[in-house]
Amino acid sequence: MIELSPAALERVYSAVDDLRGLHSELCEPRLTWDGLRRVLIREGVLVASVPLGRPAKLLPFEGMAVMLLDNSRRARHLWYAAHEFGHWKLHASDDLYERCYHMDDILGDDPKEHEADLFAELLMYGPQR
Ligand SMILES: [Zn+2]
Repeated sequence: MIELSPAALERVYSAVDDLRGLHSELCEPRLTWDGLRRVLIREGVLVASVPLGRPAKLLPFEGMAVMLLDNSRRARHLWYAAHEFGHWKLHASDDLYERCYHMDDILGDDPKEHEADLFAELLMYGPQR
């Protein structure tokens, strides 16, 4: 299991709870791709599937974001998008470069990656988890 500080856990759970209050899609037992896309649109995140050479990338811009997903990894788009959405909600005030890049080896042990993973898990598997 991921080791996160109590404060980090609280931040992630609380961010997900807040989103569940806003988006009924996140209250379903299992998140769907269509559901997440609707949530992302309402949250100001545009999603594009493109040849990328990495799983995903988030480009924040003036309070909105473009989320790029690698089109050769379609089967895992839901997970990558949920993870990037986590960076967007949890780390949007942090350093631009850290929140722009996903799954760089150099960032493998960054607690932010674990926070985004937990956020994605909570979104994917619904409120009962
Ligand atoms: Zn990440």
